[in-house]
Amino acid sequence: MYGEREISELRGIVKNARSAVFFGGAGVSTESGIPDFRSEDGLYHLKYKYPPETMLSSSFFWSHTQEFYDFYRDKMLVTDVQPNAAHLRLAEWERAGHIAAVVTQNIDGLHQKAGSKNVFELHGSIYRNFCTKCGAPYPVQRISEGKGVPRCACGGTIKPDVVLYGEPLNAETVEGAVEAIRRADALIIGGTSLNVYPAAGLIDYFRGDHVVVINRGAPAKDMRDVLFIDGKIGEIFQKI
Ligand code: NAD
Repeated sequence: MYGEREISELRGIVKNARSAVFFGGAGVSTESGIPDFRSEDGLYHLKYKYPPETMLSSSFFWSHTQEFYDFYRDKMLVTDVQPNAAHLRLAEWERAGHIAAVVTQNIDGLHQKAGSKNVFELHGSIYRNFCTKCGAPYPVQRISEGKGVPRCACGGTIKPDVVLYGEPLNAETVEGAVEAIRRADALIIGGTSLNVYPAAGLIDYFRGDHVVVINRGAPAKDMRDVLFIDGKIGEIFQKI
């Protein structure tokens, strides 16, 4: 739990920041109704024939493409949701000149929907899809409005531009995120278990003074000199 002391400390950090970076994960979107992976009601606790890490791997995509799409459409492809207070506040703080960038592990596009402009999507986005053979781009409806494996006019398989387990992160996105974190005067981490690498390792590039972690439960990474606020990020940001 947390009290007024933590809230007012966070308020001060945000107010004084000129180039802060927000680094977030699936917990940022749970208050919008998208389940995360590792919470009790997260995807890792649902029973499927295969574990989520398997179904979201590159090798599974190619060997079990139909089953990949069944899971992906059922659990990952969520478009009828709205940004919550956490996304909206971050967009406001960017407009006010406090936040320089949002670095997210999420693929749901909610930061952009809330109005954030400088967003580094480390794991890609459900809103971008392309043919694996000819590279033609496709809108998200091409995936959501069908049942089978989506195919391009050229016959190639269409794949969402999301980073599956076993695939590298996009180098340009990583470079941009690292640069923003290196230059940041404050780092606000929220809604992430910091279990997924290499994404979680990027926060090590931070050289500034203030690190805040807002999460339900302590994240996996051991961090010193951190303002840790244990609670729901949307609820907490609304108080700032
Ligand atoms: P995770 O599921 O491993 O961890 C989420 C963390 O957020 C947990 O520690 C949980 O206790 C905390 N949390 C949940 N709701 C919260 C809230 N309202 N306020 C504060 N904390 C909250 O997620 P991760 O660290 O992002 O790693 C999982 C991977 O799965 C990531 O790569 C991510 O891309 C992907 N993923 C994305 C989405 C999405 O796009 N919305 C959803 C599920 C998984």
